[in-house]
Amino acid sequence: MDIKKKLKKKAYVVKDKCVACGTCVKVCPRGAIKIIEGVFAEVDENKCIGCTICAKECPASIIEMVAKKEVVVDVK
Ligand code: SF4
Ligand code: SF4
Repeated sequence: MDIKKKLKKKAYVVKDKCVACGTCVKVCPRGAIKIIEGVFAEVDENKCIGCTICAKECPASIIEMVAKKEVVVDVK
């Protein structure tokens, strides 16, 4: 048995640079992003699976993938 530690990444929106275009909301396969009061996008970390699609599709390139927690993976 081989135990590996991996950092789990979540999407993070740099809110003051967000133009609320809604692209990330449309492309997220988990419905993890919402536009708050028509002003900025916000990611629900509990729903985000770290797929990076939103970060790639954001026209303003202001979604960052941030390591949120360490998960232990059992590699057999
Ligand atoms: S795609 Fe980028 S600019 Fe558009 S709402 Fe999402 S985070 Fe904001
Ligand atoms: S990384 Fe994937 S799951 Fe997470 S918010 Fe972006 S598109 Fe949704």
